[in-house]
Amino acid sequence: MSATTPDAPIFDAAAWRLTEQEIALTRRARELGERVFAARAASFDREARFPTENYADLRDAGLLGVCVPAAYGGLGAGYRAYALTAAEIGRYCGATALTFNMHVCSCLWTGPLADAIDMDPAQRAEHERRRAMHYARIVEHGAIYAQPFSEGGSAAAGAVPFATTAVRDGDGWRVSGRKIFASLAGHADYYGILCTEADSDGTLARRNTLYVAVPASAPGLRVEGDWDPLGMRGTVSRTLILDDVRVAADEALMPSGLYYQAAVRWPHMFLTLTPAYLGIAQAAYDFTVRYLRGEVPGQAGDKRRGQAVKQHNVARMHLMLEQTKALWFQVVSEARVDPPREMMLRAYAAQYTVMENANELCQLAIRTCGGQSMLRTLPIERLYRDSRCGSLMLPWSADICLERIGHDALYAPGERD
Ligand SMILES: Cc1cc2nc3c(=O)[nH]c(=O)nc-3n(C[C@H](O)[C@H](O)[C@H](O)COP(=O)(O)OP(=O)(O)OC[C@H]3O[C@@H](n4cnc5c(N)ncnc54)[C@H](O)[C@@H]3O)c2cc1C
Repeated sequence: MSATTPDAPIFDAAAWRLTEQEIALTRRARELGERVFAARAASFDREARFPTENYADLRDAGLLGVCVPAAYGGLGAGYRAYALTAAEIGRYCGATALTFNMHVCSCLWTGPLADAIDMDPAQRAEHERRRAMHYARIVEHGAIYAQPFSEGGSAAAGAVPFATTAVRDGDGWRVSGRKIFASLAGHADYYGILCTEADSDGTLARRNTLYVAVPASAPGLRVEGDWDPLGMRGTVSRTLILDDVRVAADEALMPSGLYYQAAVRWPHMFLTLTPAYLGIAQAAYDFTVRYLRGEVPGQAGDKRRGQAVKQHNVARMHLMLEQTKALWFQVVSEARVDPPREMMLRAYAAQYTVMENANELCQLAIRTCGGQSMLRTLPIERLYRDSRCGSLMLPWSADICLERIGHDALYAPGERD
């Protein structure tokens, strides 16, 4: 392996028994990432600028429609094929992979997830009609969807209803609220907003969560604040204000109330932030091996692989990467509606492992390669900063995963002391 040798797939097709579709999609993403995303990543990071050029390439490669069902003109990838594809993007530009996730989730919620949950025939027919419109925007017009759920309270963690409200207005709604860390702010064409429709007595309940697409041009919608964070700087996750925004009925991404059912019954959706960080974990390992072999363009000095301590650390990184990949692959392979408890515990374990290990691998990479490796001319310090963001992501932050594993391992469902 050298810097001029094409990167091997993160998951070898034969060893991991990938499908033909997964082989093709991951190849497309890896070639794009290696050829163009890798070189651009430093400037998006330095300038905290949205990767617009990468999105043009994703659009040209058909990847904006990766999870749009084939019947609607998309590539028809399911959950695992998407996750594998996004991981390859994350190797080269974490911010592109993370924002790509926000966009693709709008297709997963409305696609395979919606197909797996209960709807009456009228809801199903209405959903079919509406999602056809959303998918056409993506496939035919290259529209980008964002997924701003977070509000700064406990709603994004699933503990309380969203404080952003939707009030009936004719056959649509008027939506008001504030979303923080709205990745793609100012760059998305539509914002997939989670809000709550109040009961008749004015109370807010999670079962009344509504998921609607708010067009970027809607009067009353604005982006506020600056964006100068530690890592994932290209996500441009500024604050979104919705001030009595009129939203048409057809903008509903799911029929009223069904988002809650989907979130409860298809919880692996919350694992979709991990591919970006799995890609970073792989990139940290690849960088270390290349650097110690003296193969990184722009690095000072020659081969640096002779010392036993460096070999020992590379071994530790290798173990950590293999463990992370194996657990993650299992979990994205078994994701399904109504997962049993064992599967849920494994999903939390995978989320925790990917997010924490990505950062630890970057930390080990710098420690092993040394001071000259962390200069801004090389990518590892950016990978290190980007990887730090993974365990903060709600609803499955690292601490929430620990909390749930600890509780659910000791208590059967409904059990109390
Ligand atoms: C780069 C980046 C991009 C992001 N993009 C998006 C986006 O596109 N869309 C979006 O919706 N959000 C996005 N987020 C937001 C993210 O998912 C969290 O909502 C955000 O980091 C929470 O910040 P906070 O300061 O409110 O922390 P807090 O919510 O206070 O969290 C601090 C810690 O407290 C713990 N905690 C929080 N709530 C609970 C609870 N109910 N029970 C137990 N423990 C809890 C968790 O361990 C958490 O790590 C992004 C975040 C980052 C860093």
